[in-house]
Formats: sequence, structure tokens, C-alpha cells
Amino acid sequence: MDIHEYQAKELLSNFGVEVPPGALAYSPEQATYRAREMGGDKWIVKAQVHAGGRGKAGGVKLCETDVEIQEACEGMFGQKLVTHQTGSEGKGIYRVYVEGAVPIAKEFYLGFVLDRSSQRIMIVASAEGGMEIEEISAERPDSIVRSTVEPAVGLQDFQAREIAFKLGIEPALTQKMVRTLQGCYRAFTDLDATMVEVNPLVVTGDDRVVALDAKMTFDDNALFRHPQVSELRDKSQEDPRESRAADRGLSYVGLDGNIGCIVNGAGLAMATMDTIMLAGGEPANFLDIGGGATPERVAKAFRLVMSDKNVQAVLVNIFAGINRCDWVAEGVVQALKEVQVDVPVIVRLAGTNVEEGQKILAQSGLPVIRANTLMEAAERAVGAWRNDVAMGTHLKVAK
Ligand code: GDP
Ligand code: MN
Repeated sequence: MDIHEYQAKELLSNFGVEVPPGALAYSPEQATYRAREMGGDKWIVKAQVHAGGRGKAGGVKLCETDVEIQEACEGMFGQKLVTHQTGSEGKGIYRVYVEGAVPIAKEFYLGFVLDRSSQRIMIVASAEGGMEIEEISAERPDSIVRSTVEPAVGLQDFQAREIAFKLGIEPALTQKMVRTLQGCYRAFTDLDATMVEVNPLVVTGDDRVVALDAKMTFDDNALFRHPQVSELRDKSQEDPRESRAADRGLSYVGLDGNIGCIVNGAGLAMATMDTIMLAGGEPANFLDIGGGATPERVAKAFRLVMSDKNVQAVLVNIFAGINRCDWVAEGVVQALKEVQVDVPVIVRLAGTNVEEGQKILAQSGLPVIRANTLMEAAERAVGAWRNDVAMGTHLKVAK
């Protein structure tokens, strides 16, 4: 789960990371009021969306008067901000954060990520702040400092000092940098984050180390342990397909291919995606209906998969243990009758009540392509999809 910049800053500041003074606003009037209340003579108005790259897209504005704040906000509220991270649809702006401007002397990049190969938290930093990490690694890879944290002892002060040294931080500021690194690290581990990014982290003209931007992502499976984090969820910023699925208790991840997958269990979902690739196709999604799926739940999954306009064939692969093949078959039949499914549907069932399931499918009279093994199912799905592509019938699908 992602959260907004202002929320990440509040969390980080609880761990001793210095952030600029700021206030949240839900309207232009509120923004000017909050800026006046805060004092100062320069403010940064920042669109709160779950994406980076806002600066270049017009979502970060320097303002020197009430009128400028008002105008900057009027250009943001209710608009969609399109940045290189949002996709062409953009993300809606419903909140802005007003911050007192900070005199920047030097900008740094600072990121904490989970490094899968070392299975550790890795700190990635660069003195080329302000740029996105992708640009830094393409243009100035030599500037990147990496350091992995030994989990048994956590981030050590000497290690943090070493990072500060490699970044060329002035010795007088080393201690402040160490405090910042330690604060981010503790926030990461204590709150079960999967990513903390501060870009830019700045050294100010008056010798402070301040997080000017902050981004945090959390492990969804650990949110139950952190109600103060899970309540920061903002559904207006999420892929509607994924939040609709989450609300229905389905795990759904949209992908780029065109074969929709309805599967029970994450492991089986991954095996199914691999097999589709092996057969020469590409999955359009990852959908896990979970155990004990009722016909209604299967029908819901179908509706969700069919709402994706890229789907040109659907592969249902169920290995029923707790699940029941007859219920799944009923769900498929129910969905095919209700939802206008005009793409090939391939069903492979195995396990509990498989005979009953096959019978329901056969007796339904619906054009379901059946398969006995996973490989067969994937080959039939890819074959049916190719055939439709060759015939041009997949183009007629009006959704
Ligand atoms: P992003 O584009 O979504 O990553 O948004 P950022 O919060 O990083 O803002 C973009 C850029 O605006 C930063 O890289 C800074 O250069 C600039 N910026 C943000 N806050 C301030 C500030 O308080 N003072 C000054 N001078 N520049 C700022
Ligand atoms: Mn940034």
C-alpha cells in the first residue's frame, strides 16, 4: 500500500527525520488560510497523489503570495495529474500540501528498499538528488552508494557515517545525516514498510538535513499490525480494478497480456502464468479467488476479469481441495449467462467433485473449452486466442 507524501513525512518525523513545516488542505481557501497561519513568505504547494515526478508535471509550485497559492491550488484541485509514473490516465488531486519553502544548498537521493538477492534492506543513496533514481542509474551510476543492513544488528552508526562520507556530506553535518538514516531505517522496520524514498533529501543553507519529499510503501500483509498506517489508505489513488477486487476479498493484479486467469491460490496462479508464457501467450492478470469460493465469488471474479478490455481469452484453472469443482463450474456457468463473455473460455478442473463439475459444464450447453491438464489448458487458451486473432474475431469484442 502506498501513502501520500504528507503522511510519509509525518511518520518519518516521528522517527526523528526533519521535515519542513507544512499543512494539508482540501480546498484553495483552506490552503491560503493554512499558509498564513504557518507564516513565512515563500511556500511550496504540492499536489498529493500517489506518484512521483510531480515537479515536472506541474504538481509542485513555488508561491510568494496568497493569490499565487490560490491560483496554484485552483489549477490542481479536481484535476488529474499525469506524471511519468501515473500512466496516461493520471491521478486525481483532492488534497494539497502547503509547505514553508526551504533554502536548498545541496540535494541528495535516499532510498531504502528490500533487496531480494541479498534478502536484506538496502540503502541506496546518491549526491545527484532531485533526479529520479532511474535517471541517476542511467546517467550517473558511479554516483550511487549502496549499503546493505545486517538484520541481526540493524543499521550501525559507523555504516551510516560511511554513507554520509561517501556522499560528501560535510563532517559537521555527519551526525544529522546519521540521525536521518537511522530514522528512516527504524520507520522502515518498525512499520513494516517495503520502501522508503526521500528524494530530495537536502542540506539547507542554514546547515540542516531535511526531507523535502517522502514516499513510503507498506507490506499489505502486515497492515493488520499497524492500524495507524492502514487508516492512511486513499482509494482515490488506487487502480479501481485492484481496489474493487480487494473489497471483494479477491487478490487481483492487472498485467499487460491478454489471457485472463482465474485461479485458486497464489502458487497455482504463478504456475498458471508461467505455463501460459511457456505456451506462447501472456497473462492479462493474476487473480486468486482463494479457498472455498462460492459460485457467486467465481462469478464476481469473472466480471472483474471481463472488465479489463485487454482480455481476449479466459483461462480458469482450479485445483479444488477446500474448493469444490461443482461450485466453481456453477460460478462459471452463472457468470457466462450474466456477463456478456464473447471471448474463448477454457476451464481446467481437478480435485474435489471434479466429475460433478465437468457435468455441469457439459450440460450447460455453453461454449466452454475443457482441458484436463494445466499444459493442455494453457495450450488451448493460447491456441483459441491465436485463432481469434487470425480470424480477426477478437477485434469485434465490444466492451
Ligand atoms: P516529485 O517531483 O513528485 O518528486 O516532488 P518533489 O517533492 O521532489 O518536488 C520536486 C522538486 O521541487 C524538488 O526536487 C525540489 O527541487 C523542489 N522543491 C520542493 N520543495 C522545495 C522547497 O521547499 N524549496 C525549494 N527551493 N525547492 C523545493
Ligand atoms: Mn521527489
